[in-house]
Amino acid sequence: MKASYITEEHEILRKSLKKFLQKEAVPYFKEWEKNGEIPRSFWRKMGTQGYLCPWLGEAYGGFGADFGYSVVIDEELEKVGTGTIGIGLHNDIVVPYIHEYGMEEQKNRWLPKCTTGEWITAIAMTEPGAGSDLASIKTTAYKEGDYYVVNGEKTFITNGVHADAVVVVCKTDPNAKPAHKGISLLVVEKGTTGFSRGNKLDKVGLHSQDTAELIFEDAKVPVENLLGKEGEGFYYLMNQLQQERLIVGIGAIASCERMLELTIPYVKERQAFGQSIASFQNTQFKLAELATEVEIGRAFLDRTIQAHMDGEDVVKEVSMSKWWTTDLVKKVALECMQLHGGYGYMEEYEMARRFRDAPVTAIYAGSNEIMKSIIAKKLGLT
Ligand SMILES: Cc1cc2nc3c(=O)[nH]c(=O)nc-3n(C[C@H](O)[C@H](O)[C@H](O)COP(=O)(O)OP(=O)(O)OC[C@H]3O[C@@H](n4cnc5c(N)ncnc54)[C@H](O)[C@@H]3O)c2cc1C
Repeated sequence: MKASYITEEHEILRKSLKKFLQKEAVPYFKEWEKNGEIPRSFWRKMGTQGYLCPWLGEAYGGFGADFGYSVVIDEELEKVGTGTIGIGLHNDIVVPYIHEYGMEEQKNRWLPKCTTGEWITAIAMTEPGAGSDLASIKTTAYKEGDYYVVNGEKTFITNGVHADAVVVVCKTDPNAKPAHKGISLLVVEKGTTGFSRGNKLDKVGLHSQDTAELIFEDAKVPVENLLGKEGEGFYYLMNQLQQERLIVGIGAIASCERMLELTIPYVKERQAFGQSIASFQNTQFKLAELATEVEIGRAFLDRTIQAHMDGEDVVKEVSMSKWWTTDLVKKVALECMQLHGGYGYMEEYEMARRFRDAPVTAIYAGSNEIMKSIIAKKLGLT
């Protein structure tokens, strides 16, 4: 079934992007995994082709594309590998903060570099001592003359090594009550005095993703790098996190579809006891069940995407689709690996990589437990 928001133009984009990725990403993906990063040259190529932030207006280098284009780009990147998540994060999660809350002067200064790939962006919320409980972050930013002096540490930051600009969630008023009212967003640029990278983190999966620690020691951030208003940061995050969670769901369903695409031909080809693995009823029932659940997930996700594009309040539905699709991707990875037998556990098989990449989707962008808390609240239970 074709999604209601997909037009012929989206399909044209999909076709050309697929071709581009087959040439520029697929042959190098293993090398990127080994190096722990996607080279900047790939970002620049994405930018040249118009695949970075196409939704931005022409003044900033985009072409005013609707969210359907973002969906197609995120799906096609996911089919190459979940480790490309940093590109989706740049396109549809971080840059929207600058666009939504930046002043015209900030937008003119920063956004054109985001569409060309000259700038890679990141968002730094999580700290060693605070992830789900965002209001308890400890990073502070005190105004001194023309600067904010920032102190603190962030961890697990996607694009952390490459990032030329980081939207840093910090407390401009650590004594605010309630605590979330003291949160603000600052754009910290590469080269800022007192801003450095810590370790590139060694992860179970997403090996091509440069996830890192960020350190701020009396970092001097110009006051003109404040995004929006002081003390409003938490509300900005709550508004934008919906799209972030939707992006994670889009990746999860695309990955499920890819795993079925890998497994169905494999079980048809592989023989045991003089017959194909596909001929066993267990295989047929397992794949029939998984395919059904993936279709259900796809239908709900597509409906939620359409509602998001129509500007509806989708907090509940996004939370539902985020936890459900990311639980599903873990299940599909486990079952499809099982159907591959020992080969599914071998690194040379894409299935193995998908198995280790899947679990994190239930953790980041708000853990699935936090999603259920949001849904419970929406149901009037708390
Ligand atoms: C690969 C990767 C990339 C990431 N990228 C980024 C990034 O770019 N920027 C960024 O800021 N962060 C990023 N994160 C951080 C991510 O968003 C956090 O890990 C996540 O929000 C969970 O926070 P935590 O790790 O501190 O876990 P905790 O908050 O310590 O949670 C531990 C466990 O307790 C559960 N829990 C917590 N509170 C509750 C509750 N109220 N009710 C029930 N259960 C609860 C959680 O669901 C979880 O299962 C990334 C993480 C990873 C692993």
